[in-house]
Amino acid sequence: MATVIKNVLIVYAHQDSLSFNAALKNAAVKTLESQGYKVTVIDLYAQHFEPRATRSDITGELSDAKKFSYMQEVGTAFKEDRLSHDIKIEMEKLKEADLVIFQFPLYWFSMPAILKGWVDRVFANGFAFNYAKAQIYDTGLMSGKKAMLSLTTGGPETLYTNKGLNGDMNIILWPMQYGILRFVGFDVLKAQVSYAPAMAADTKRKSMLDNWTTRLKDIAKEKPLEFIPIENFDYNKGCQLSEEYVNHHKEDKTSPTIGQNMGKLLPQKGI
Ligand SMILES: Cc1cc2nc3c(=O)[nH]c(=O)nc-3n(C[C@H](O)[C@H](O)[C@H](O)COP(=O)(O)OP(=O)(O)OC[C@H]3O[C@@H](n4cnc5c(N)ncnc54)[C@H](O)[C@@H]3O)c2cc1C
Repeated sequence: MATVIKNVLIVYAHQDSLSFNAALKNAAVKTLESQGYKVTVIDLYAQHFEPRATRSDITGELSDAKKFSYMQEVGTAFKEDRLSHDIKIEMEKLKEADLVIFQFPLYWFSMPAILKGWVDRVFANGFAFNYAKAQIYDTGLMSGKKAMLSLTTGGPETLYTNKGLNGDMNIILWPMQYGILRFVGFDVLKAQVSYAPAMAADTKRKSMLDNWTTRLKDIAKEKPLEFIPIENFDYNKGCQLSEEYVNHHKEDKTSPTIGQNMGKLLPQKGI
């Protein structure tokens, strides 16, 4: 069933309110609110969000005081409502959201540490996924919600092609879109990449902002990226693609996704 979007959460990671990321975030708030959505912004730097995943995230006794396992302790603390207050606040915002937009500048082909830390701590075991119950990917606990990346780069678009100096942007996006967003069950909308705003002319920057607002007006109609459904992986063979799936796609020229590339040419459709 398609998600009806009412509440949008923007997780925003930039230090400066005059930055281009701030302009993209502000444009999103304005556009989405004018469309009738309820918009909540998490301004990670402004709220001095603690990005480190540590013992302090668990209140009370540890279940194993000798050897600290963050994943295990967080799982238990979540079940017993003993996670730290700041994590619980973020979880409440996430629970309410139908669409989550991550707005950030690309740092080292990835997201800024403060945003990665938000993911590390808020997408907690038991809350966003449950490995023990195989609630990951299609059955991740964020199922039914949508999410997307909106990022800016320092380098121009030509650097991020499959012949460019920095390499194919789709490969850079894969760990974030599949390893994070899809892993916890989100339907992932295509990323919005605003290339090299600092090098662009004012007219180009304006058109990047216009493209973003135009897209957001129809965001509810967008279809998510198509990852391989989980039933195509064989649990008895180490969660590899089933023989049936591999045989069925044997003659395809390109691979179904960037990660599950089956040794073929990579797809150019964005995953
Ligand atoms: C640690 C680190 C790692 C990095 N790693 C990478 C990397 O791996 N790959 C890469 O490509 N880049 C990388 N960068 C560069 C970074 O991604 C870019 O600097 C960033 O994406 C640019 O976005 P910004 O919001 O900071 O732009 P800004 O520099 O804030 O803005 C660009 C221009 O837009 C103008 N502007 C602001 N608001 C508006 C508006 N409303 N209308 C019109 N213009 C406006 C600003 O005045 C400015 O002139 C890295 C940077 C750092 C610090």
